[in-house]
Amino acid sequence: MQKILYFDYIASTPICVEAKEALVKTLDMFANPSSTHRLGQKSRVVIETARNDIAEMLQCVPDNLIFTSGATEAINLGVISVCKKFGIQHIITSPLEHAAMLRTTEQTALQNNISLLHVKHNHIGQIDLNDLEQLLSAHSHALVCLMHANNEIGNLLPIKEVGKLCHKYQALFFCDMVQTVGKYPMSLSDLPVDFAVCSAHKFYGSKGCGLLYHKHNMAPLLLGGHQERNLRAGTENVGAIAAMSVALNMALKNYETEKQRIENLKNDCINLLKEKIPNICFVGNCVSGGLYNLINCYIPDVDTDVVFMQLDMAGIAISTGSACSSGTTTTSHVIQALGVPQKSMRISFGIPTQQQEIAYLIAQLEKIAKKNA
Ligand code: PLP
Repeated sequence: MQKILYFDYIASTPICVEAKEALVKTLDMFANPSSTHRLGQKSRVVIETARNDIAEMLQCVPDNLIFTSGATEAINLGVISVCKKFGIQHIITSPLEHAAMLRTTEQTALQNNISLLHVKHNHIGQIDLNDLEQLLSAHSHALVCLMHANNEIGNLLPIKEVGKLCHKYQALFFCDMVQTVGKYPMSLSDLPVDFAVCSAHKFYGSKGCGLLYHKHNMAPLLLGGHQERNLRAGTENVGAIAAMSVALNMALKNYETEKQRIENLKNDCINLLKEKIPNICFVGNCVSGGLYNLINCYIPDVDTDVVFMQLDMAGIAISTGSACSSGTTTTSHVIQALGVPQKSMRISFGIPTQQQEIAYLIAQLEKIAKKNA
């Protein structure tokens, strides 16, 4: 089979060797972690050790972490139950959020007579903090749902400023941290966030495992057994939870060297794109900041779907939006909200990415740009 050069680490990452070992090790641990016999308790210990280790790495209280099947479930659980439990009257969010947040906030607002407000952003997708403050000052009992890093354009939210603003107006702050947990060291206790979510497959863990961090008491969404401190019923995914903890440990351990290396690759890629395709346009603020592993761009008047297909034929995997919207013919909601005139492509890098892969990508892109000009 043709070797595929992978540039879609924002959509998902390969499980790292250490996490895979942890996962495999638990496969024979079949006993239910809720069973009180000794085999069950062995599975329980794996879960609780992972919870304690993750809490130490993210600097928070273990009881404030709920394991879920991923970030989408964590967002649903968080938003729906927080709105009910805290009598939320207004949700303030942004059209640039991930579909999981957009759909959940829309439905929750609709079903609970909550007003849904959208904070303004500028042409490169930066959230307007003055507008946020105005919205907060005019609407009490609000839940603010804003992502730490945008998964399509890579913009970073000034999370401390946003959190402080929310608390100044007694609003709760719910942050989708899927694209930053595992990419940056952080202390959840020190950050002014009330709720946060992350997902293991974004930082070299396995799929089907995520976390909801909650600083305040919550109510469950899935009803049934007493798992996850009564907040998420259902037998836990023991292996994926163990793997998540190991993957996070590896990601944070390698942070200093990998961040610098990957950022250099990103900058090299940007410089080569500018040199070889002078009319290339960048989306968001990926050139001057943002996530260190993401570039969003398009070649004016060249159909991005054609670029995508030709790269695919050349053995290169990129994406044309978030993983849930790519594959469709429509332009992503983020790109539309920014008023970008055509579909764009997202190129993202990860720990396995090598310099020579960038050279091959650029050579192919240059060829496609010339052929389709
Ligand atoms: N939020 C963001 C920013 C994401 O990038 C993703 C995944 O693409 C999600 C939420 C959903 O995560 P999961 O795949 O764990 O449901």
